Amino acid sequence: MAQSFLEQARVLDFIVHLQTRHTVYAPHRRGQRSFAFEKTSDPAAVELDYPRVLGSVKKYFLPPRETLMDFDLKTDTATAPQVEPVNAVFLGVHSYDLAAVKRLDHNFLTGKPERNYLVRRQGARFIGVSYVPDKFHFAGSVGIDPYDMTGSDVFLTRHPDGWIVDVLTGEGAALLQGFALPPHALPKPKREHFTQHIYVPQDSLGRILEASYDHPVWNETARSCLSCGTCNLVCPTCYCFNVEDQVAVTGDSGSRERSWDGCMLRGFTEVAGGEVFREKSAARQRHRIYRKFKYLSDATGQPWCVGCGRCTAACTAGISIVDIVNRLIRDAEREEKITA
Ligand code: SF4
Ligand code: SF4
Repeated sequence: MAQSFLEQARVLDFIVHLQTRHTVYAPHRRGQRSFAFEKTSDPAAVELDYPRVLGSVKKYFLPPRETLMDFDLKTDTATAPQVEPVNAVFLGVHSYDLAAVKRLDHNFLTGKPERNYLVRRQGARFIGVSYVPDKFHFAGSVGIDPYDMTGSDVFLTRHPDGWIVDVLTGEGAALLQGFALPPHALPKPKREHFTQHIYVPQDSLGRILEASYDHPVWNETARSCLSCGTCNLVCPTCYCFNVEDQVAVTGDSGSRERSWDGCMLRGFTEVAGGEVFREKSAARQRHRIYRKFKYLSDATGQPWCVGCGRCTAACTAGISIVDIVNRLIRDAEREEKITA
């Protein structure tokens, strides 16, 4: 498809162009080192060169908390709040977060399609941007390149003087309509290398995890893990939630609320009757890693981790998903050599 060039000096004009036609969500700086996706009011506050946003665009399709229905026992009625399509442009999304949206789509389409998520997803258009991998990214190990344009309607690749613009869909072409850009035909600059790697291909990883169920790394990690659940909450592919009824003091009305939950939290594993089926933090950590690299991968053929590095960057205990997985790989290889 067509390739053109957006000079750095015209980026603000480009954002204004988008804003006059659409609601635009984009990365904004929050504090010294943090970035967040927010609705854009001031184009100058948008940051297209950023390492990662704390939370991904997931929050716009699966809000941290939402009301599923209001009920009234006096009239024996229940009403579901109106859910609206997001109908917005997401500017500046990294390739791993676009891959995460695809995985969420799969989750909410498979089995009984989940209406609220799918309604909100409607009208979302994505303008991806390339990024320079930092000390936490390892998306290359799960097959997602910083220049990967999959899922984007338009993709912006960093160039010393601005951005190379790839238009990938008809919706992307519509976003650029009325904003003239000169054509660009030169090759893209070489991308920077990842410094973090998982050292075996995904198809071997499932086998290694299967053999690592009783590995000491789970207990060792549990000694420093605070069971805070941050690694779940920042993950762009985690989609587990809790549903609770909030009942009025009169007991005859209330609402059914859904909120994000996470497998690292003890309460998540508690079921009716008070039984906790993953009491130990070690078992919860193992489950988290197996969800990312085995259970869902076995079912779908692709890892459910997109290598964003958020869980490691946000963990106050310094627990690294890459270190855990590489330790399992190393020990499995050593074991194979010993038993060979
Ligand atoms: S963020 Fe770190 S400390 Fe918190 S639950 Fe996850 S691994 Fe444990
Ligand atoms: S498991 Fe960690 S690195 Fe993988 S997608 Fe989730 S937050 Fe990102």
